Amino acid sequence: LPQPTYTLPTTPFSAARRVPAALKQRGRRVVVTGGAGFVGSHLVDKLIARGDSVIVIDNFFTGRKENLVHHFGDPRFELIRHDVVEPILLEVDQIYHLACPASPVHYKYNPIKTIKTNVMGTLNMLGLAKRIGARFLLTSTSEVYGDPLEHPQKETYWGHVNPIGVRSCYDEGKRTAETLTMDYHRGAEVEVRIARIFNTYGPRMCLDDGRVVSNFVAQALRRQPMTVYGDGKQTRSFQYVSDLVDGLVALMESDHIGPFNLGNPGEFTMLELAEVVKETIDPDATIDFKENTADDPHMRKPDITKAKELLNWEPKVSLREGLPLMVTDFRKRILDEEN
Ligand code: NAD
Ligand code: UDP
Ligand code: UDP
Repeated sequence: LPQPTYTLPTTPFSAARRVPAALKQRGRRVVVTGGAGFVGSHLVDKLIARGDSVIVIDNFFTGRKENLVHHFGDPRFELIRHDVVEPILLEVDQIYHLACPASPVHYKYNPIKTIKTNVMGTLNMLGLAKRIGARFLLTSTSEVYGDPLEHPQKETYWGHVNPIGVRSCYDEGKRTAETLTMDYHRGAEVEVRIARIFNTYGPRMCLDDGRVVSNFVAQALRRQPMTVYGDGKQTRSFQYVSDLVDGLVALMESDHIGPFNLGNPGEFTMLELAEVVKETIDPDATIDFKENTADDPHMRKPDITKAKELLNWEPKVSLREGLPLMVTDFRKRILDEEN
């Protein structure tokens, strides 16, 4: 008879079958798409800390293994290199769908890929949720409001969006993702949740991802001028990442579909933001004015009444408290880069 060519495991049967205590209780099994990215990796930290088993799906376009390395070796953590544009078979209880580049520089790099990720990627994750009866949460964006004519923006506002512009792969892509999510809910009875995330910052953002907070912080630390686009009078509201992660989990666990705005209502012009960065990092930091990009929204500020009332959630960390936490992380990474 032919002999097996593989070596039999030497571990005694009983030891090989010893299941870690956390798995015996079988907590929730959760997928986080885009879990190697900025927001996703912080979400994974929270889910693992509360005892869930987490599977990350990421194609590493903007994500980094460094963001998750502290979970390697944990039997409740699994990392799969996979592109959500392709179908996948898994068995889980919840799906947090974050996979999509979020910074304008990254999502404009390959706009066709961005819209495929938003449309086909979301379709696949909804198909997966339907097949296995998992609850699905979409991370949509304040960009669905476009260059808003209503201020601050409530969830009832339908938006003011250019369908054929350079940002459309992202904002129209996310609008389609919201449509798909609601159609799978109405048509296939998938349990869904929709979060509309406003500008978020914190440790682990890509150093050069082009977003304004990461740009200003990296520039001030490298003693380069901070690049203010346009006249700097456009506004944004900046949320610290731990507040967002608390909001995403509160929404997933709630009985409400949404959409919910998740953002910090504190509103700053880009010049005011530059001032806070200056106070935090270097009083001698300078500003360099650059031409603004096309279709840049003039103002943005969430109305979070709905999330406060129904999710009992509101942000706790102000920009002046959160910025130093990000600066510590950026300072270390910039030093590592230089050495
Ligand atoms: P990020 O770029 O750091 O993370 C996105 C992750 O998705 C990365 O790890 C990337 O590699 C992965 N990814 C991209 N395309 C993929 C694909 N086709 N298949 C598998 N993985 C893919 O961005 P982020 O700031 O962490 O954003 C996470 C989510 O939150 C995104 O969906 C984004 O649209 C949304 N959001 C973020 C903000 C913000 O200010 N950070 C604001 C609004 C919405
Ligand atoms: N899908 C997936 N994993 C699953 C089930 C579905 O990736 O476990 C994908 C599937 O390949 C399809 C998409 O999700 O492209 C939508 O699935 P659905 O069943 O809703 O549609 P259908 O396959 O009938 O077109
Ligand atoms: N911005 C800037 N300097 C930079 C990067 C961005 O002044 O180095 C401005 C940009 O024009 C926009 C705002 O900052 O008005 C927020 O841009 P970001 O790309 O961070 O996010 P958005 O809200 O546009 O998705």
